[in-house]
Amino acid sequence: MAMNRIQFQPGLSLPAFHAQFGTEKQCADALESARWPQGFRCPGCGNGDYYLLTAKKHKTFQCKCCRLQTSLIAGTLFQSTQLALTIWFLAIYLVSQAKTGLSALDLKRQLGMSYPTAWLVQQKLMQTMVERDAQYKLCGNVQVDDPYLGGELAGGKAGRGSENKVPFVAAISLSSEGRPLYIKMAPIPGFTRKALAIWANEDLTPGCVVTSDGLGCFAGVIDAGCQHKVIVAGGRKPKDLPEFNWINTVLGNLKTSMGGAYHAFDFAK
Ligand SMILES: [Zn+2]
Repeated sequence: MAMNRIQFQPGLSLPAFHAQFGTEKQCADALESARWPQGFRCPGCGNGDYYLLTAKKHKTFQCKCCRLQTSLIAGTLFQSTQLALTIWFLAIYLVSQAKTGLSALDLKRQLGMSYPTAWLVQQKLMQTMVERDAQYKLCGNVQVDDPYLGGELAGGKAGRGSENKVPFVAAISLSSEGRPLYIKMAPIPGFTRKALAIWANEDLTPGCVVTSDGLGCFAGVIDAGCQHKVIVAGGRKPKDLPEFNWINTVLGNLKTSMGGAYHAFDFAK
């Protein structure tokens, strides 16, 4: 069998993960340096001098200037959690490594927790990913596609006319070497030039070069200050064009992922 370059990308193995994040202290240290790469700064006054309060469950800093107490986990997704950080880190690892998606039931089984706890962990991780995702815009070279999600599984009509199908824009930014950097998926009201212009204003940096298969509405990105490059399909579908390899990989993974995490998925949501 031919080796697939994408499937064989290096990742973090479970033993390597365990060696790096297997103890509570390792996780706490990782969290601290992620929050304050230059060392603790008081969120109240910006001062860097502090007393360490050691009696608390999580490392807590007291500002020497304004006396504000800041716990390591305050204001993070772990705020007021009863779970060990090692469990959270493992949950993040499992969710991020699972190419086929991970249900709350999978988390329950793999982390040995109750279903309601697993469900909450999953919700928090997804919410955090959504918030993080909303903070950045794509720039540079961007590939776009216009998939409809849903429909096929319910046995509905295929293609753009199907019921239970939601119009989506899928976009992926590529490095100068053509490697994928970030993806953005957004539902839009319809494939119109206006809808695409509104989407591009939110998710793209003006000046970026957008490559599409030439579906008319994608000219909307020009209205948002981006350039539009059309790859002429010449009767072939975008999925058969090498120029769209990465976006097709992402869409394939997304469909598999949704199938793994949800047995029935309400795409309107
Ligand atoms: Zn302070």
